[in-house]
Amino acid sequence: MRRYSAFAIAREALRYHAGWEKAWASPEPRRKYDVVIVGAGGHGLATAFYLGRNFGITNVAVIEKGWLGGGNTGRNTTIIRSNYLQDPSAAIYEKSRSLYETMSQDLNYNVMYSPRGVMMLAQTQAEVRGYLRTAQANTLQGVTTRFIDPPEVKKLVPIINLDGPRYPVLGALWQDRAGTARHDAVAWGYARACSDMGMDIIQQCEVTAVRREGGRVVGVDTSRGAIDCDKLGIVVAGNSGVMAERAGFRLPIDSVALQALVSEPIKPCMDVVVMANTVHGYMSQSDKGEMVIGGGADGYNNYTQRGSFHHIEETVRALVETFPMVSRLKMLRQWGGIVDMTGDRSPILSKTPVEGVFINCGWGTGGFKATPGSGWAMAELMAKGHSPLAEAYTLDRFREGRFIDESVAAGVAH
Ligand SMILES: Cc1cc2nc3c(=O)[nH]c(=O)nc-3n(C[C@H](O)[C@H](O)[C@H](O)COP(=O)(O)OP(=O)(O)OC[C@H]3O[C@@H](n4cnc5c(N)ncnc54)[C@H](O)[C@@H]3O)c2cc1C
Repeated sequence: MRRYSAFAIAREALRYHAGWEKAWASPEPRRKYDVVIVGAGGHGLATAFYLGRNFGITNVAVIEKGWLGGGNTGRNTTIIRSNYLQDPSAAIYEKSRSLYETMSQDLNYNVMYSPRGVMMLAQTQAEVRGYLRTAQANTLQGVTTRFIDPPEVKKLVPIINLDGPRYPVLGALWQDRAGTARHDAVAWGYARACSDMGMDIIQQCEVTAVRREGGRVVGVDTSRGAIDCDKLGIVVAGNSGVMAERAGFRLPIDSVALQALVSEPIKPCMDVVVMANTVHGYMSQSDKGEMVIGGGADGYNNYTQRGSFHHIEETVRALVETFPMVSRLKMLRQWGGIVDMTGDRSPILSKTPVEGVFINCGWGTGGFKATPGSGWAMAELMAKGHSPLAEAYTLDRFREGRFIDESVAAGVAH
């Protein structure tokens, strides 16, 4: 595949852009692959990419029931950070963040990684204590974060109101190499690189059943026919429970809709990401000028991918306390994605009771930031049967009580 470069743009400009190739092929499914990955979100595509790049396994199909990147990957608010409390979390999220640093070069695709800094506001004494503890833990884990005081918060975010009516800003946990990236570009970049390695990305094709013989996987049935495989990776986020049932096992996962909204574009006014977990809202400004606002999850399980009015009201009401200018913004659109929540708010990267079937799910409200690290670990797990980064995230931990509790640590995990 031709490399993207400044020279290529100049060349195409001279010939009416007629020479660009399709970024990825759309082949018919073959009868058999070594590995089938279900789900062409960022995590599924990253898994395929690192199977090829790190282990030379390229007889791979990534099967997607909709369009690639059309699940949570294309619906999130793109926050990337690695300042988690527990050691296994810091390890996988920091690996992921470091892969983001070089992703555009590695994929030869501009994913617009913007390490603009992420700030998590402390608005109660409990949050101050929690974030001081996280900052100490991060120091031990080699993750660079620090706790900053209110004047520094104001300096970084001039539009903030430090003396909120209910919750004054008492400080913040600050990670200056955290930030955002263009979510669709992450999926598109991985897809292009996978296709270039000879892998098949098959869209508009739903996996409807997992075929097993003697306790091991032999293939899948899809809406476009049967496909045989030696190994199967299930990477379907909010549909994980449904797919696990089709493979014959159960998961400790709840699926709920998580919502977000964006405002009309305005002049640049905030160049960092701010998360206000006590009032529950978070905000950043996109390159187009829209204020990107994340809200809460529905209070009941569902599989809808839509927004709802009461969430706009709750989220905006909360944010107005900390950012009064939000009251004068017009909102442009809202949407939802189906997130896969575990009890300890940590993911599952694991073998399953069916031999040859591996599962990667449970990233819940915060898996975009983990996309490359998750793909790296899942590929290693599928290729070698073991991955140090995935070691703590087995399905067994729920049976054995070895939780990796990020729910108490973070309150919210975006
Ligand atoms: C509103 C919102 C805001 C968020 N904000 C952030 C954030 O700021 N930072 C962050 O880190 N994370 C955030 N997240 C979470 C993040 O988006 C997800 O954790 C992550 O994108 C999951 O990626 P994935 O590849 O596992 O899943 P997806 O992108 O959902 O991909 C799974 C794919 O599997 C496909 N599929 C399902 N069933 C089948 C089947 N039977 N056959 C074939 N294909 C199937 C689906 O169509 C889908 O495309 C947010 C999520 C939402 C919804």
